[in-house]
Amino acid sequence: MRRILWFRRDLRVDDNPLLSFEGEVLPLFIFDTTILEKLPPSDRRLTFIFHTVMKLKEDLHIIGLDLAIFYGKPTDIFDWILTTGSYHEVCASGDYDSYALERDRDISLKLPFNLLHDTYIFKPDEVLKKDGTPYLVFTPFYNCAKKLFQREHLTHYPHTAQKLVAFDYEGLHCIGGDTLTKRPLLLESIRFEPQSLTLQQQMSPQEKLALFATKIETYTNARDFMALDATSALGIDLRFGTISIRALLRWLSEQKKNKVDTEPFFRQLVFRDFYAMLLYHFPHLALENFRYSFKGLEDKEKFEAFTTTRTGVPIVDAGIRQLLETGEMHNRVRMICASFFTKNLLLPWQWGERFFAQHLMDYDAASNILSWQWSAGTGVDPQPYFRIFNPYTQTKRFDKEGTYIKKYLPQLAQTPAKFLADEALLRQYNLAQYPSPIVEHSASSKRALEYFRLSMPEN
Ligand SMILES: Cc1cc2nc3c(=O)[nH]c(=O)nc-3n(C[C@H](O)[C@H](O)[C@H](O)COP(=O)(O)OP(=O)(O)OC[C@H]3O[C@@H](n4cnc5c(N)ncnc54)[C@H](O)[C@@H]3O)c2cc1C
Repeated sequence: MRRILWFRRDLRVDDNPLLSFEGEVLPLFIFDTTILEKLPPSDRRLTFIFHTVMKLKEDLHIIGLDLAIFYGKPTDIFDWILTTGSYHEVCASGDYDSYALERDRDISLKLPFNLLHDTYIFKPDEVLKKDGTPYLVFTPFYNCAKKLFQREHLTHYPHTAQKLVAFDYEGLHCIGGDTLTKRPLLLESIRFEPQSLTLQQQMSPQEKLALFATKIETYTNARDFMALDATSALGIDLRFGTISIRALLRWLSEQKKNKVDTEPFFRQLVFRDFYAMLLYHFPHLALENFRYSFKGLEDKEKFEAFTTTRTGVPIVDAGIRQLLETGEMHNRVRMICASFFTKNLLLPWQWGERFFAQHLMDYDAASNILSWQWSAGTGVDPQPYFRIFNPYTQTKRFDKEGTYIKKYLPQLAQTPAKFLADEALLRQYNLAQYPSPIVEHSASSKRALEYFRLSMPEN
């Protein structure tokens, strides 16, 4: 049996079901031009992905395999590979956003496609209501998931595959139509510029886990405080599969044996599954509301202020500055920014989703889309549209000293912390080099409620 192993969201050797086949295999990674063509050469994620792919190639060498690296459109690449010999199937782990599903469907017309389960804890149709339909609310999904969770979700996959020798693994295979050219294996060869990554982004998942082991006890109480480094920072690793979800769960069960309360962290991992399951079953959610016909107001000026850190709301501007400078953003700040965007500015959630998608290192279609819909109050979870975050109260609770805000907005370094959490003070005293808030919280919240009320089905 000869198999093509297509690495996508599972860029690792350890505990990878792709490598647990017997027989000859051709491991493959594709820099997919359909996706890359839409990104600027400065996209930070490509630096991370490129390093990760090079590490995967090295790690495969260690176990006697190699990685063929391609640049082009997957359909052209598979057409070309099929001219080099006969293959029985292509194996890949599940990737469920709409582009991925369409891409895999196209390839399955050329070669039998063996879709493996790897990326999430549960298969997309494993946690369903008694009547076989998907859960729409997280808590019942979570309760059902906990009941179904068992040892098999912790399975470790050994590597047993053997190298397909008759293949040239050197250099970057660039395919345009059915023509092959070769380039050196450099980031510049795929037309991207090397970017500097933060220390955290350079850490291996194992290093992050070792660090997180020292903080997991305080996760519940500290995770919402944006100036504290209290979360795992594994978002990017889960996104690109540099850690296996099962390895993370096995690590968590070791922590549990040491009497650590692991449930709050486990719950967040199940949240990730919940969102993936929802997008799988309701692909139209990528663009359309689940609830309410409200579409937002297309105000380009407000959008520009939001994306260029000029809203005058310090916690929002600090969050966007963190995103633009590092590709990261603390979860609570993501929630505050998304609420401000969709409620106070009344902008379409799809605009915000796209903006985050352009910049987040851990961008994941399901988590991003569903979180934006949740913030907008248009999604499946019954987050009432009338619940609007007050960015000033949030600042008072979670960044009282203004440590996070001052880190990302150094022009506010000398401003007393109480100003940063007080809209009236921000308006009353014009701060040097910092704009006044572009909307008034109470009035803009009232306006949002009115717009949403008008878009309710009974109106
Ligand atoms: C508007 C908005 C957009 C978001 N976009 C993304 C995105 O594109 N990609 C993404 O992975 N997460 C997204 N999230 C969820 C969350 O903010 C990140 O997963 C988290 O901040 C990553 O940091 P961490 O790894 O330190 O998280 P931890 O707190 O250490 O959590 C561990 C892991 O659990 C998962 N997780 C945690 N919280 C959530 C959540 N609320 N929803 C889904 N999964 C979660 C993530 O995989 C995360 O890495 C978004 C949240 C909001 C409010």
